[in-house]
Amino acid sequence: VMSPVNIQELMYHNLPADYMEILKWAGEKALSMGAKVYAAGGIVRDLLLGIECLDIDLVVEGDGIELARAISKEHQGRLREHNQFGTAKILFPDGRQVDVTTSRTEFYQYPAAMPQVEASSLHQDLYRRDFTINAMAVSINKESFGDVVDYFGGREDLERGLIRVLHNLSFVEDPVRILRAVRFEQRYYMSLESHTLKLAREAMHNNMLARVSTERIWEELKHVFLEPRPGLVLARFMELQLWPSLFPGVEPEKVRPVLDKITRSLRTLRYWNVVEPSEIWMIYFLAVLHFSDWTVASEVCRRYHLSKRQTNKVAAALGGWRSILKKLQEPFGVTMSELARQVKSVPGEIYPLILCYLTGNSVKKRFRHVLNAVFYNKPQINGKDLRLLGYEPGKQYKRAMEALWQARLDGVICNRQEEMNYVKKYLVNFEGAKDNV
Ligand code: ATP
Repeated sequence: VMSPVNIQELMYHNLPADYMEILKWAGEKALSMGAKVYAAGGIVRDLLLGIECLDIDLVVEGDGIELARAISKEHQGRLREHNQFGTAKILFPDGRQVDVTTSRTEFYQYPAAMPQVEASSLHQDLYRRDFTINAMAVSINKESFGDVVDYFGGREDLERGLIRVLHNLSFVEDPVRILRAVRFEQRYYMSLESHTLKLAREAMHNNMLARVSTERIWEELKHVFLEPRPGLVLARFMELQLWPSLFPGVEPEKVRPVLDKITRSLRTLRYWNVVEPSEIWMIYFLAVLHFSDWTVASEVCRRYHLSKRQTNKVAAALGGWRSILKKLQEPFGVTMSELARQVKSVPGEIYPLILCYLTGNSVKKRFRHVLNAVFYNKPQINGKDLRLLGYEPGKQYKRAMEALWQARLDGVICNRQEEMNYVKKYLVNFEGAKDNV
Protein backbone atom coordinates (compact mmCIF):
# COMPACT_ATOMS: atom_id res chain seq x y z
CA VAL A 1 0.00 0.00 0.00
CA MET A 2 1.38 3.38 -0.96
CA SER A 3 1.45 6.31 1.42
CA PRO A 4 -1.08 9.09 0.93
CA VAL A 5 -0.09 11.78 -1.48
CA ASN A 6 -1.08 15.35 -2.18
CA ILE A 7 -0.88 16.56 -5.77
CA GLN A 8 -1.80 20.22 -5.34
CA GLU A 9 1.59 21.21 -6.71
CA LEU A 10 1.16 18.98 -9.76
CA MET A 11 -2.28 20.44 -10.36
CA TYR A 12 -0.92 23.99 -10.34
CA HIS A 13 1.72 23.00 -12.85
CA ASN A 14 -0.36 20.91 -15.20
CA LEU A 15 -3.86 22.35 -15.21
CA PRO A 16 -4.75 25.59 -16.96
CA ALA A 17 -4.98 28.49 -14.48
CA ASP A 18 -8.65 29.16 -15.17
CA TYR A 19 -9.42 25.50 -14.43
CA MET A 20 -7.61 25.67 -11.11
CA GLU A 21 -9.62 28.79 -10.38
CA ILE A 22 -12.86 26.88 -10.98
CA LEU A 23 -11.74 23.91 -8.86
CA LYS A 24 -10.77 26.13 -5.93
CA TRP A 25 -14.00 28.05 -6.20
CA ALA A 26 -16.06 24.84 -6.38
CA GLY A 27 -14.38 23.52 -3.23
CA GLU A 28 -15.20 26.67 -1.29
CA LYS A 29 -18.73 26.79 -2.56
CA ALA A 30 -19.25 23.14 -1.60
CA LEU A 31 -18.07 23.93 1.92
CA SER A 32 -20.66 26.69 2.23
CA MET A 33 -23.29 24.22 1.02
CA GLY A 34 -22.24 21.57 3.49
CA ALA A 35 -21.15 19.31 0.63
CA LYS A 36 -17.89 17.69 -0.44
CA VAL A 37 -16.50 17.69 -3.94
CA TYR A 38 -13.82 15.68 -5.74
CA ALA A 39 -12.37 15.59 -9.22
CA ALA A 40 -12.42 11.95 -10.28
CA GLY A 41 -11.44 9.53 -13.01
CA GLY A 42 -9.25 10.40 -15.98
CA ILE A 43 -7.97 13.67 -14.54
CA VAL A 44 -6.20 12.02 -11.59
CA ARG A 45 -4.76 9.32 -13.83
CA ASP A 46 -3.46 11.83 -16.35
CA LEU A 47 -2.12 14.22 -13.70
CA LEU A 48 -0.12 11.39 -12.15
CA LEU A 49 1.14 10.39 -15.60
CA GLY A 50 2.00 13.99 -16.42
CA ILE A 51 -0.32 14.02 -19.41
CA GLU A 52 -2.60 16.84 -20.42
CA CYS A 53 -6.25 16.26 -19.54
CA LEU A 54 -8.97 18.71 -20.34
CA ASP A 55 -12.07 16.85 -19.22
CA ILE A 56 -13.02 17.44 -15.64
CA ASP A 57 -15.34 15.10 -13.88
CA LEU A 58 -16.60 16.29 -10.46
CA VAL A 59 -18.23 13.99 -7.92
CA VAL A 60 -20.28 15.73 -5.25
CA GLU A 61 -21.27 14.30 -1.90
CA GLY A 62 -24.30 16.52 -1.58
CA ASP A 63 -26.43 18.31 -4.13
CA GLY A 64 -24.44 18.09 -7.37
CA ILE A 65 -26.99 19.95 -9.45
CA GLU A 66 -27.03 22.91 -7.10
CA LEU A 67 -23.22 23.11 -7.11
CA ALA A 68 -23.17 22.84 -10.92
CA ARG A 69 -25.65 25.72 -11.15
CA ALA A 70 -23.46 27.85 -8.91
CA ILE A 71 -20.27 27.06 -10.86
CA SER A 72 -21.79 27.78 -14.24
CA LYS A 73 -23.33 31.04 -13.01
CA GLU A 74 -20.09 32.27 -11.47
CA HIS A 75 -17.89 31.24 -14.42
CA GLN A 76 -20.13 32.03 -17.39
CA GLY A 77 -20.76 28.47 -18.48
CA ARG A 78 -23.84 26.99 -20.09
CA LEU A 79 -25.54 24.36 -17.99
CA ARG A 80 -27.22 21.18 -19.12
CA GLU A 81 -29.04 19.44 -16.29
CA HIS A 82 -30.14 15.82 -16.14
CA ASN A 83 -32.16 15.99 -12.97
CA GLN A 84 -33.35 12.39 -12.95
CA PHE A 85 -29.70 11.26 -12.72
CA GLY A 86 -28.47 14.07 -10.48
CA THR A 87 -25.91 15.00 -13.13
CA ALA A 88 -25.10 18.16 -15.04
CA LYS A 89 -22.71 19.28 -17.71
CA ILE A 90 -21.17 22.74 -17.72
CA LEU A 91 -20.02 23.93 -21.13
CA PHE A 92 -17.55 26.79 -21.30
CA PRO A 93 -17.16 29.17 -24.22
CA ASP A 94 -13.67 27.82 -25.05
CA GLY A 95 -15.15 24.35 -25.66
CA ARG A 96 -14.03 22.75 -22.44
CA GLN A 97 -16.51 21.01 -20.22
CA VAL A 98 -17.01 19.96 -16.64
CA ASP A 99 -19.25 17.03 -15.74
CA VAL A 100 -20.83 17.05 -12.33
CA THR A 101 -22.37 13.97 -10.75
CA THR A 102 -24.07 13.49 -7.42
CA SER A 103 -22.69 10.44 -5.69
CA ARG A 104 -25.57 8.39 -4.48
CA THR A 105 -26.08 7.99 -0.80
CA GLU A 106 -28.78 5.34 -0.99
CA PHE A 107 -27.83 1.77 -0.19
CA TYR A 108 -25.60 0.41 -2.90
CA GLN A 109 -25.61 -3.28 -3.69
CA TYR A 110 -22.04 -4.31 -4.35
CA PRO A 111 -21.61 -6.74 -7.18
CA ALA A 112 -19.79 -9.98 -6.40
CA ALA A 113 -19.82 -11.41 -2.94
CA MET A 114 -18.00 -8.56 -1.30
CA PRO A 115 -18.29 -7.85 2.39
CA GLN A 116 -20.79 -5.05 2.88
CA VAL A 117 -18.66 -2.21 4.05
CA GLU A 118 -19.91 1.03 5.45
CA ALA A 119 -18.64 3.19 2.64
CA SER A 120 -18.79 6.83 1.75
CA SER A 121 -20.79 7.73 -1.30
CA LEU A 122 -17.53 8.73 -3.02
CA HIS A 123 -16.28 5.21 -2.45
CA GLN A 124 -19.47 3.85 -3.98
CA ASP A 125 -19.12 6.12 -6.98
CA LEU A 126 -15.53 5.07 -7.60
CA TYR A 127 -16.34 1.40 -7.11
CA ARG A 128 -18.67 1.53 -10.09
CA ARG A 129 -15.81 2.47 -12.40
CA ASP A 130 -13.89 0.27 -14.78
CA PHE A 131 -10.22 0.05 -13.76
CA THR A 132 -8.15 0.94 -10.73
CA ILE A 133 -6.23 3.61 -12.66
CA ASN A 134 -9.56 5.27 -13.52
CA ALA A 135 -11.02 4.91 -10.04
CA MET A 136 -9.07 7.54 -8.17
CA ALA A 137 -10.22 10.97 -7.08
CA VAL A 138 -8.56 14.13 -5.86
CA SER A 139 -10.10 16.29 -3.18
CA ILE A 140 -10.78 19.88 -4.14
CA ASN A 141 -12.25 20.65 -0.73
CA LYS A 142 -10.66 23.58 1.02
CA GLU A 143 -9.14 21.71 3.95
CA SER A 144 -7.75 18.82 1.91
CA PHE A 145 -7.17 20.28 -1.55
CA GLY A 146 -4.99 17.96 -3.63
CA ASP A 147 -5.28 14.86 -1.45
CA VAL A 148 -5.52 11.78 -3.66
CA VAL A 149 -8.28 9.32 -2.79
CA ASP A 150 -7.17 5.88 -3.90
CA TYR A 151 -9.18 3.01 -2.45
CA PHE A 152 -8.20 0.34 -4.96
CA GLY A 153 -4.48 0.73 -5.52
CA GLY A 154 -4.70 2.81 -8.67
CA ARG A 155 -1.43 4.61 -8.06
CA GLU A 156 0.49 1.41 -7.64
CA ASP A 157 -1.06 -0.02 -10.80
CA LEU A 158 -0.19 3.17 -12.67
CA GLU A 159 3.42 2.85 -11.59
CA ARG A 160 3.56 -0.81 -12.49
CA GLY A 161 1.71 -0.23 -15.72
CA LEU A 162 -1.24 -2.49 -15.03
CA ILE A 163 -4.86 -2.32 -16.14
CA ARG A 164 -6.86 -4.02 -13.40
CA VAL A 165 -10.61 -4.36 -12.86
CA LEU A 166 -12.08 -3.67 -9.43
CA HIS A 167 -13.91 -6.97 -9.04
CA ASN A 168 -14.47 -10.34 -10.73
CA LEU A 169 -17.81 -9.49 -12.32
CA SER A 170 -16.67 -6.27 -13.94
CA PHE A 171 -16.63 -7.59 -17.52
CA VAL A 172 -19.92 -9.39 -17.00
CA GLU A 173 -21.49 -6.19 -15.70
CA ASP A 174 -20.30 -4.29 -18.75
CA PRO A 175 -18.51 -6.23 -21.52
CA VAL A 176 -17.54 -2.99 -23.30
CA ARG A 177 -14.90 -2.72 -20.58
CA ILE A 178 -12.99 -5.49 -22.40
CA LEU A 179 -12.48 -3.07 -25.27
CA ARG A 180 -11.78 -0.16 -22.94
CA ALA A 181 -9.15 -2.21 -21.10
CA VAL A 182 -7.27 -2.79 -24.35
CA ARG A 183 -7.64 0.85 -25.38
CA PHE A 184 -6.06 2.13 -22.15
CA GLU A 185 -3.46 -0.63 -22.21
CA GLN A 186 -2.24 0.39 -25.63
CA ARG A 187 -2.61 4.12 -25.09
CA TYR A 188 -0.29 4.08 -22.07
CA TYR A 189 1.91 1.16 -23.17
CA MET A 190 0.68 -0.81 -20.15
CA SER A 191 -0.42 -4.45 -19.69
CA LEU A 192 -3.59 -6.17 -18.67
CA GLU A 193 -2.98 -7.47 -15.17
CA SER A 194 -2.95 -11.29 -15.36
CA HIS A 195 -6.13 -11.97 -13.39
CA THR A 196 -7.92 -9.22 -15.33
CA LEU A 197 -6.74 -10.81 -18.57
CA LYS A 198 -8.11 -14.15 -17.40
CA LEU A 199 -11.47 -12.55 -16.57
CA ALA A 200 -11.52 -10.85 -19.97
CA ARG A 201 -10.84 -14.16 -21.74
CA GLU A 202 -13.59 -15.83 -19.76
CA ALA A 203 -16.05 -13.09 -20.68
CA MET A 204 -15.07 -13.40 -24.35
CA HIS A 205 -15.32 -17.16 -24.18
CA ASN A 206 -18.90 -16.74 -22.94
CA ASN A 207 -19.51 -14.37 -25.83
CA MET A 208 -20.42 -11.50 -23.53
CA LEU A 209 -19.81 -8.88 -26.23
CA ALA A 210 -22.76 -10.26 -28.17
CA ARG A 211 -25.00 -9.01 -25.37
CA VAL A 212 -23.97 -5.41 -25.92
CA SER A 213 -25.81 -3.23 -28.41
CA THR A 214 -23.87 -2.52 -31.59
CA GLU A 215 -24.42 1.18 -30.86
CA ARG A 216 -22.32 0.97 -27.72
CA ILE A 217 -19.65 -1.08 -29.45
CA TRP A 218 -19.48 1.43 -32.28
CA GLU A 219 -19.18 4.28 -29.81
CA GLU A 220 -16.18 2.53 -28.28
CA LEU A 221 -14.70 1.65 -31.69
CA LYS A 222 -14.87 5.28 -32.73
CA HIS A 223 -12.97 6.13 -29.54
CA VAL A 224 -10.37 3.58 -30.60
CA PHE A 225 -10.12 5.05 -34.11
CA LEU A 226 -9.42 8.46 -32.59
CA GLU A 227 -6.66 7.26 -30.26
CA PRO A 228 -3.10 8.37 -30.99
CA ARG A 229 -2.19 4.82 -32.12
CA PRO A 230 -5.34 2.97 -33.16
CA GLY A 231 -3.30 0.36 -35.04
CA LEU A 232 -1.85 -0.96 -31.78
CA VAL A 233 -5.31 -1.29 -30.23
CA LEU A 234 -6.70 -3.05 -33.30
CA ALA A 235 -3.72 -5.41 -33.43
CA ARG A 236 -4.19 -6.27 -29.76
CA PHE A 237 -7.92 -6.88 -30.41
CA MET A 238 -6.75 -9.32 -33.06
CA GLU A 239 -4.35 -11.04 -30.69
CA LEU A 240 -7.16 -11.48 -28.16
CA GLN A 241 -9.40 -12.89 -30.89
CA LEU A 242 -11.92 -10.10 -30.61
CA TRP A 243 -12.15 -9.43 -34.35
CA PRO A 244 -14.88 -11.97 -35.13
CA SER A 245 -17.12 -10.22 -32.59
CA LEU A 246 -16.26 -6.74 -33.85
CA PHE A 247 -15.84 -7.17 -37.60
CA PRO A 248 -17.61 -10.40 -38.57
CA GLY A 249 -16.25 -11.96 -41.73
CA VAL A 250 -13.13 -9.82 -41.93
CA GLU A 251 -9.91 -11.82 -42.18
CA PRO A 252 -7.50 -10.26 -39.70
CA GLU A 253 -4.19 -11.65 -41.06
CA LYS A 254 -4.59 -9.85 -44.36
CA VAL A 255 -4.81 -6.40 -42.81
CA ARG A 256 -2.36 -6.94 -39.97
CA PRO A 257 0.72 -5.44 -41.73
CA VAL A 258 -1.18 -2.25 -42.54
CA LEU A 259 -2.14 -1.67 -38.91
CA ASP A 260 1.50 -1.16 -38.00
CA LYS A 261 2.06 1.39 -40.74
CA ILE A 262 -1.08 3.42 -41.11
CA THR A 263 -0.52 6.03 -38.41
CA ARG A 264 2.94 6.74 -39.76
CA SER A 265 1.45 7.13 -43.24
CA LEU A 266 -1.06 9.62 -41.91
CA ARG A 267 1.78 11.56 -40.32
CA THR A 268 3.71 11.53 -43.59
CA LEU A 269 0.71 12.94 -45.43
CA ARG A 270 0.44 15.72 -42.85
CA TYR A 271 4.10 16.44 -43.36
CA TRP A 272 3.42 16.64 -47.10
CA ASN A 273 0.75 19.24 -46.33
CA VAL A 274 -2.02 17.13 -47.75
CA VAL A 275 -5.35 18.56 -46.64
CA GLU A 276 -6.59 16.64 -43.59
CA PRO A 277 -9.54 14.33 -44.36
CA SER A 278 -12.69 15.26 -42.49
CA GLU A 279 -13.37 11.89 -40.84
CA ILE A 280 -10.20 10.61 -39.19
CA TRP A 281 -11.95 7.58 -37.72
CA MET A 282 -12.74 6.38 -41.23
CA ILE A 283 -9.04 6.03 -42.06
CA TYR A 284 -8.83 3.14 -39.60
CA PHE A 285 -12.24 1.76 -40.45
CA LEU A 286 -11.08 1.52 -44.07
CA ALA A 287 -7.83 -0.11 -42.97
CA VAL A 288 -9.89 -2.79 -41.24
CA LEU A 289 -12.10 -3.39 -44.27
CA HIS A 290 -9.78 -2.83 -47.22
CA PHE A 291 -9.11 -6.47 -47.96
CA SER A 292 -12.69 -7.67 -47.62
CA ASP A 293 -15.28 -8.18 -50.34
CA TRP A 294 -17.98 -5.57 -50.48
CA THR A 295 -20.52 -8.11 -49.18
CA VAL A 296 -18.51 -8.38 -45.95
CA ALA A 297 -17.63 -4.68 -45.76
CA SER A 298 -21.16 -3.48 -46.39
CA GLU A 299 -22.44 -5.86 -43.74
CA VAL A 300 -20.05 -4.27 -41.21
CA CYS A 301 -21.27 -0.80 -42.28
CA ARG A 302 -24.84 -1.93 -41.77
CA ARG A 303 -24.05 -3.51 -38.43
CA TYR A 304 -22.80 -0.19 -37.09
CA HIS A 305 -25.55 1.85 -38.72
CA LEU A 306 -23.32 4.02 -40.86
CA SER A 307 -25.34 6.62 -42.71
CA LYS A 308 -25.94 6.34 -46.42
CA ARG A 309 -23.43 9.11 -47.06
CA GLN A 310 -20.78 7.37 -44.95
CA THR A 311 -21.45 3.99 -46.54
CA ASN A 312 -21.15 5.50 -50.01
CA LYS A 313 -17.88 7.08 -49.01
CA VAL A 314 -16.55 3.74 -47.73
CA ALA A 315 -17.66 2.11 -50.99
CA ALA A 316 -15.94 4.77 -53.11
CA ALA A 317 -12.72 4.40 -51.14
CA LEU A 318 -12.69 0.60 -51.18
CA GLY A 319 -13.62 0.54 -54.85
CA GLY A 320 -10.88 2.95 -55.92
CA TRP A 321 -7.66 2.35 -54.06
CA ARG A 322 -6.36 -0.69 -55.93
CA SER A 323 -6.47 0.94 -59.31
CA ILE A 324 -4.69 4.05 -58.00
CA LEU A 325 -2.05 1.88 -56.40
CA LYS A 326 -1.48 0.05 -59.66
CA LYS A 327 -1.18 3.25 -61.67
CA LEU A 328 1.29 4.70 -59.17
CA GLN A 329 3.40 1.55 -59.30
CA GLU A 330 3.22 1.14 -63.08
CA PRO A 331 2.88 4.64 -64.43
CA PHE A 332 3.85 3.82 -68.04
CA GLY A 333 1.40 5.47 -70.36
CA VAL A 334 -0.58 7.00 -67.52
CA THR A 335 -0.89 10.77 -67.73
CA MET A 336 -0.47 12.98 -64.70
CA SER A 337 -3.96 14.38 -65.17
CA GLU A 338 -5.45 10.91 -65.24
CA LEU A 339 -3.72 9.97 -61.99
CA ALA A 340 -4.70 13.24 -60.34
CA ARG A 341 -8.29 12.86 -61.47
CA GLN A 342 -8.49 9.39 -59.95
CA VAL A 343 -6.83 10.36 -56.70
CA LYS A 344 -9.18 13.32 -56.43
CA SER A 345 -12.20 11.11 -57.03
CA VAL A 346 -11.67 8.90 -53.96
CA PRO A 347 -12.18 10.11 -50.37
CA GLY A 348 -9.02 11.46 -48.72
CA GLU A 349 -9.53 8.98 -45.87
CA ILE A 350 -8.07 6.25 -48.10
CA TYR A 351 -4.81 8.10 -48.91
CA PRO A 352 -2.93 6.80 -45.82
CA LEU A 353 -3.79 3.25 -46.81
CA ILE A 354 -2.52 3.78 -50.34
CA LEU A 355 0.72 5.16 -48.94
CA CYS A 356 1.10 2.05 -46.74
CA TYR A 357 1.37 -0.07 -49.86
CA LEU A 358 3.88 2.10 -51.72
CA THR A 359 7.41 0.80 -51.52
CA GLY A 360 10.44 2.65 -52.77
CA ASN A 361 11.18 6.34 -52.76
CA SER A 362 10.43 7.06 -56.38
CA VAL A 363 6.90 5.66 -56.10
CA LYS A 364 6.23 7.60 -52.91
CA LYS A 365 7.57 10.72 -54.56
CA ARG A 366 5.18 10.20 -57.44
CA PHE A 367 2.25 9.95 -55.03
CA ARG A 368 3.39 13.14 -53.32
CA HIS A 369 3.59 14.84 -56.66
CA VAL A 370 0.08 13.72 -57.58
CA LEU A 371 -1.33 14.86 -54.23
CA ASN A 372 0.38 18.17 -54.67
CA ALA A 373 -1.33 18.51 -58.01
CA VAL A 374 -4.69 17.65 -56.49
CA PHE A 375 -4.45 20.15 -53.67
CA TYR A 376 -2.17 22.93 -54.80
CA ASN A 377 -1.62 23.03 -58.54
CA LYS A 378 -4.29 25.57 -59.36
CA PRO A 379 -4.52 27.57 -62.61
CA GLN A 380 -3.38 31.17 -62.38
CA ILE A 381 -6.50 32.57 -64.00
CA ASN A 382 -9.82 32.59 -62.21
CA GLY A 383 -13.47 33.58 -62.50
CA LYS A 384 -12.64 37.26 -62.64
CA ASP A 385 -10.56 36.76 -65.77
CA LEU A 386 -13.40 34.90 -67.40
CA ARG A 387 -15.89 37.60 -66.55
CA LEU A 388 -13.56 40.14 -68.16
CA LEU A 389 -13.73 38.00 -71.26
CA GLY A 390 -17.50 38.25 -71.08
CA TYR A 391 -18.26 34.81 -69.69
CA GLU A 392 -20.45 34.32 -66.64
CA PRO A 393 -19.50 31.67 -64.08
CA GLY A 394 -21.59 28.52 -64.53
CA LYS A 395 -21.44 24.87 -65.36
CA GLN A 396 -19.48 25.49 -68.52
CA TYR A 397 -17.00 27.67 -66.73
CA LYS A 398 -16.39 24.90 -64.21
CA ARG A 399 -15.80 22.43 -67.01
CA ALA A 400 -13.38 24.78 -68.70
CA MET A 401 -11.39 25.20 -65.49
CA GLU A 402 -11.33 21.45 -64.95
CA ALA A 403 -10.01 20.90 -68.48
CA LEU A 404 -7.46 23.65 -67.91
CA TRP A 405 -6.32 22.03 -64.67
CA GLN A 406 -5.70 18.77 -66.48
CA ALA A 407 -3.93 20.39 -69.39
CA ARG A 408 -1.63 22.13 -66.96
CA LEU A 409 -0.85 18.88 -65.14
CA ASP A 410 0.12 17.23 -68.39
CA GLY A 411 2.43 20.14 -69.14
CA VAL A 412 0.49 21.25 -72.22
CA ILE A 413 0.18 24.72 -70.75
CA CYS A 414 2.88 26.62 -68.97
CA ASN A 415 1.90 30.25 -68.35
CA ARG A 416 -0.95 32.62 -67.78
CA GLN A 417 -1.25 33.70 -71.40
CA GLU A 418 -1.53 30.08 -72.50
CA GLU A 419 -4.14 29.48 -69.83
CA MET A 420 -6.23 32.37 -71.16
CA ASN A 421 -5.96 31.13 -74.70
CA TYR A 422 -6.85 27.62 -73.69
CA VAL A 423 -9.97 28.62 -71.80
CA LYS A 424 -11.06 31.05 -74.53
CA LYS A 425 -10.76 28.34 -77.13
CA TYR A 426 -12.60 25.88 -74.89
CA LEU A 427 -15.50 28.24 -74.32
CA VAL A 428 -15.71 29.35 -77.94
CA ASN A 429 -15.88 25.73 -79.02
CA PHE A 430 -18.63 25.21 -76.54
CA GLU A 431 -20.59 28.24 -77.77
CA GLY A 432 -20.13 26.90 -81.28
CA ALA A 433 -21.43 23.51 -80.21
CA LYS A 434 -24.44 25.17 -78.63
CA ASP A 435 -25.19 27.16 -81.78
CA ASN A 436 -25.17 23.95 -83.76
CA VAL A 437 -27.86 22.36 -81.64
P1 ATP B 1 -10.41 9.50 -22.20
O1 ATP B 1 -11.51 10.50 -22.24
O2 ATP B 1 -9.05 10.09 -22.10
O3 ATP B 1 -10.54 8.42 -23.20
P2 ATP B 1 -11.52 8.87 -19.68
O4 ATP B 1 -11.03 8.05 -18.54
O5 ATP B 1 -11.85 10.29 -19.43
O6 ATP B 1 -10.48 8.71 -20.82
P3 ATP B 1 -14.26 8.38 -20.37
O7 ATP B 1 -14.78 7.36 -21.30
O8 ATP B 1 -14.52 9.80 -20.64
O9 ATP B 1 -12.72 8.07 -20.30
O10 ATP B 1 -14.78 8.00 -18.92
C1 ATP B 1 -14.65 8.82 -17.80
C2 ATP B 1 -14.58 7.96 -16.55
O11 ATP B 1 -15.80 7.24 -16.39
C3 ATP B 1 -13.48 6.91 -16.65
O12 ATP B 1 -12.28 7.36 -16.08
C4 ATP B 1 -14.07 5.73 -15.92
O13 ATP B 1 -13.70 5.79 -14.57
C5 ATP B 1 -15.56 5.90 -16.03
N1 ATP B 1 -16.13 5.00 -17.05
C6 ATP B 1 -16.35 5.26 -18.35
N2 ATP B 1 -16.89 4.22 -18.99
C7 ATP B 1 -17.04 3.26 -18.06
C8 ATP B 1 -17.57 1.92 -18.09
N3 ATP B 1 -18.01 1.37 -19.23
N4 ATP B 1 -17.58 1.24 -16.93
C9 ATP B 1 -17.13 1.79 -15.80
N5 ATP B 1 -16.62 3.01 -15.72
C10 ATP B 1 -16.57 3.75 -16.81
